Amino acid sequence: MRLKRIELAGFKSFVDPTRIDLDLGITAIVGPNGCGKSNIVDALRWVLGEHSAKHLRGGVMDDLIFQGSDTRSPVAVCDVELTFAIERGALATPYHELEEITIRRRLTREGGSDAFINGKMVRMKDVVDLFLDTGISTRAYAIVEQGSIARMVTAKPEERRVIFEEAAGVMKYRSRRKEAERR
Ligand code: ATP
Ligand code: MG
Repeated sequence: MRLKRIELAGFKSFVDPTRIDLDLGITAIVGPNGCGKSNIVDALRWVLGEHSAKHLRGGVMDDLIFQGSDTRSPVAVCDVELTFAIERGALATPYHELEEITIRRRLTREGGSDAFINGKMVRMKDVVDLFLDTGISTRAYAIVEQGSIARMVTAKPEERRVIFEEAAGVMKYRSRRKEAERR
């Protein structure tokens, strides 16, 4: 799976609709301190299902919505859409025939958050399930931040196991077992 495009609006410092295309090869995002580079990674994490405001570098979820600046008023909604290119058959049904998939998440100050897969409203759990075992989930290894290599090396074996299990593709089964045990 390859991330092709990120579209954001009202998300943190990205108040105006912004589209970032990631072509084949390496894309680097550069800019001065505070220009919003890490905010893009926060957007990615959030759409993939991060539900801890702290992990998104905020105090509460509303901190994800543009809160105004000297020249602009705050907005009420933030909206992020990710487009992935997928190899046919890489995802489970009903998405196995697709070559592209879009995941969108929207948050309003009063209304909470909604998630969409290819424009259809879904539960956030459906998004998380879709990415299980692809390595792309929010706590997996697709996002390598400052300090995370050191954290991996010094992690307790049971913490490190999560990373191996994701890579080995057994997370899906573990998650289904947990769900079955809860019933
Ligand atoms: P560095 O190079 O220091 O890592 P960066 O490019 O990663 O910087 P970010 O941390 O992505 O910068 O962006 C921080 C900026 O985003 C700050 O100026 C902050 O005020 C702004 N910001 C964060 N949340 C919001 C929000 N909800 N509304 C408006 N601006 C926000
Ligand atoms: Mg940064």
